[in-house]
Amino acid sequence: MADASPRHRSTVVRVIFLGPPGAGKGTQAARLAAHLGVPKIGTGEMLREAIAKETPLGRKAHPYMEAGNLVPDDLLVALVRERIAEPDCGHGFVLDGFPRTLPQAQGLEEMTGGDPRAWVVFDFEVPRDVLMMRLSGRRWCPRCQATYHVVNDPPERKGVCDVCGTGLVQREDDRETVVAHRLEEYAQRTFPLIEHYRTRARMVPVDGNRPMDVVFRDLLQALEVAA
Ligand SMILES: [Zn+2]
Repeated sequence: MADASPRHRSTVVRVIFLGPPGAGKGTQAARLAAHLGVPKIGTGEMLREAIAKETPLGRKAHPYMEAGNLVPDDLLVALVRERIAEPDCGHGFVLDGFPRTLPQAQGLEEMTGGDPRAWVVFDFEVPRDVLMMRLSGRRWCPRCQATYHVVNDPPERKGVCDVCGTGLVQREDDRETVVAHRLEEYAQRTFPLIEHYRTRARMVPVDGNRPMDVVFRDLLQALEVAA
């Protein structure tokens, strides 16, 4: 047997992660993709890469990112369309951060041939106060980019980077008022998407307020994949 074959059974696996910022879905998506032997497609990273490489899409997306605005649906759909046409997506993929709107979901269905019934949509649920605590407690080092959390992953010395000794800062995005706004925006934009998938795909609610390994075991179980 070829060792490059995915560990997953012969069917194509298509997994979508939905969930508010701070729900921990990025970490789980990466781990699941590695476990299944399929690529993780994260639109945030892809956008940053396209911009760095100055691809035609990257050049179009750059002004939106720079101004802190949402990148238009059609640009994101085009980006994902290019990516999933690559041969490594032949056995499927794990999507992280896409789709986030109804038009994006429709674009995805169109490019993959329509029927999302066999897809698994993990919907991460985490209480709002936990999300607030997770996000607003984040700190990072402006010099070496190491990340910390005041409660879950504090540095040895309060407010100082373990790696390089620089004073830690809070990203603008992680300030409490901005976090509240991000959560509000997520709820508003994603609600129609959840409604959309509820009847068209296999929605699996995930309690994201548990230890990472426990959450991961649930994901494997839902996919009927051995740990
Ligand atoms: Zn540092």
